[in-house]
Amino acid sequence: MFTSLKGKIIFFITLIMGITVLFIVYFTQRDVGKAMLESEQAAAQNVLKLVELNIQGGYNKLLADKFDMIIGLNQRLKSITAMCVSVLAEYNNLAKTGKISQEQARRLSLNWVRSVSVEKGLVFVFDQNARIVGHPDNELAGMSIEAIKDMKGRQISKVMNVGVLKSKGESAVFFWQDNLEERTSKKLGYFIPFPDWGWTICAIIDFDAIEAESQKKLNNIVKVLKKTFDKIRIGKTGYAFLFEGNGDMLIPPLRKKDIDFRVTKNERTGNPLLQDLKAAYKEETSVIRFIEASPQGEQEVEAHVAYFKTFDWYIAVAVPVLEIQEPAKALVTRQSLIITVIFLGSLILAYIFVTRTSLPLKMLASYAKDIPSIDFTAEEDERSPIDELPAKFHDEVGRLAESFVYMRAELRTKVRELIERTAAQERLEKEAAEEANQAKSEFLANMSHELRTPLNHIIGFTELVVDKHFGELNDQQHDYLEDVLSSSKHLLSLINDILDLSKVEAGKLELALSEVDIRGLLNHSLIMVREKTMKHGIHLKHSYDGIPDTVRMDERKMKQVLYNLLFNAVKFTSDGGEVILDARAIDGVVRQGKRWRDKSEVQIFEHPVDGSEADDARIKPCIQVSVTDTGIGIAPEDQDRIFNAFEQVENSKSRKYQGTGLGLSLTRKLVELHGGKIWVESDGLKKGSTFRFVIPVYQA
Ligand code: ADP
Repeated sequence: MFTSLKGKIIFFITLIMGITVLFIVYFTQRDVGKAMLESEQAAAQNVLKLVELNIQGGYNKLLADKFDMIIGLNQRLKSITAMCVSVLAEYNNLAKTGKISQEQARRLSLNWVRSVSVEKGLVFVFDQNARIVGHPDNELAGMSIEAIKDMKGRQISKVMNVGVLKSKGESAVFFWQDNLEERTSKKLGYFIPFPDWGWTICAIIDFDAIEAESQKKLNNIVKVLKKTFDKIRIGKTGYAFLFEGNGDMLIPPLRKKDIDFRVTKNERTGNPLLQDLKAAYKEETSVIRFIEASPQGEQEVEAHVAYFKTFDWYIAVAVPVLEIQEPAKALVTRQSLIITVIFLGSLILAYIFVTRTSLPLKMLASYAKDIPSIDFTAEEDERSPIDELPAKFHDEVGRLAESFVYMRAELRTKVRELIERTAAQERLEKEAAEEANQAKSEFLANMSHELRTPLNHIIGFTELVVDKHFGELNDQQHDYLEDVLSSSKHLLSLINDILDLSKVEAGKLELALSEVDIRGLLNHSLIMVREKTMKHGIHLKHSYDGIPDTVRMDERKMKQVLYNLLFNAVKFTSDGGEVILDARAIDGVVRQGKRWRDKSEVQIFEHPVDGSEADDARIKPCIQVSVTDTGIGIAPEDQDRIFNAFEQVENSKSRKYQGTGLGLSLTRKLVELHGGKIWVESDGLKKGSTFRFVIPVYQA
């Protein structure tokens, strides 16, 4: 899937970062969402706690105020009773001293007591039998107070009885219906004993005033709370409200004045909302959810409830669930966005980094691919981009590049050494071969020269015998001498060939150039083989096309070339075959020092005939001569070989045709001496062959 290292690294970075991002986003969604929900719920609970504390504070204050008031009243009642006791003691003293009777003292005392005026209160006296002995309302005299109990449930007549009551007195709160007011009301009383007469003096005051004062303060608490409630913010549209146990709304929700919680039903339970809230508190879940209509449509609302028992008050805080989750969602979205941006940014950075890191590796890889095509023999090539890498990178890449540069330098040195060694060896071998060849050629030249002299003598004298003594010879002698003559001539031509070849190789054969009538030369060479073609019934044809009148060449050597080609054509063509000599003018391109490139279309050959420093490439008029036969043909693999000296296609044992293998070798050398080129074209064995040569025409 990934064919490059870069692709793999980027894939793995993306994979790891992608997984990390997924995990972060997942856990953020889960944990932050949960934490936010919990914190919002905790906030709602805190609000409740705060309100509760507020109420508790108000309550404490209320209690303290009430306490202060009661203490004050108590003090006043105490001093009144104390005053009464001292008045009673005075009358008692008068009686004791005999100034007045006991009876008078008691009557005067009760009169005084009845006249004591207490704001919204009175003083009365009862005896140890719980009977009223003195009261501003005379009708009550003699009435039993046994039925009166204090708030703690104690019977007043017993606990406040003169027999048990401490001398400094005691207070109590109780309900008493007195005839004066004809209603039962709460009273605060202070009781003090007067043991001398067995009486308990009691100053009482109505408690309602205190209660009314407390109620006023309670209303103030609600007022303050209302202000607090107005300031409470939970979520966007959350609200708080306060209601009494009987369902009366003390502080209605600020923004939900239209909802009557006593009537509006919770769709989930079918109960009125207040009822559900109260039930939630009792079941200790302290939270309910309900559907509420809002301008945005229906929404689910979560309400927490707390209860303040002393006042029988319920405090509720309600907030739409979506609003609880909204900050969490916003936070998670923002975080996901930031993480995604960081992820993409990191990915781009990773891509740039990996690309930059892998670029030199890519360069090295492509350089390694190119190494086989580097020409190490050429002069020092241009600096390659990898030469810069070791200086730029000081890590593994730099070291790898260094190794590449080192390897290239080593390869260059080694290749050059090898080439130099090979060239030196070749030079030595060539020199040795040339020397040996030179020696051989010189030997052959000398030998053939030495052989020719006696051979010419043999031929000359044999001809002399045949000519001068023709009549004296019998037929057999004549035939023998003719054989000697023919063999000698053949031997001479062989020796001549060897001599010529040796001379060419020894560089001693020189052309005797002259303006030659080329047509005459061609016709003459045809005549030379005519006898033989006629003998074998071979059709000898010729065609000349646009050839010039004269061509500058060595006539004898060119005659030898033509003879060799025609002779071979006739020799290797079976009876009844065909031999065609064709000569035509063509334009040939002479390229000095270049290889022969194309044999048939454009003629290119190496040495201008005059040896002058010809242009690199120029077109010159040439003459092309072809000798075509219908003979045995030449296999493609033999077509170059036959131009070498002593090379023949068939081996000697099975040889059907006579020959030495010298003819074509000499022919090629002679054509090349004329600045030309020779080659053979044959489609293969038994398909006939065409020997073709081209030489430039240097007209007079
Ligand atoms: P040879 O004296 O053997 O003819 P050449 O150098 O003239 O020597 O020729 C070399 C060889 O090339 C021949 O032995 C022959 O195998 C082959 N050859 C030359 N000319 C022809 C031709 N016209 N057709 C077929 N083979 C040829």
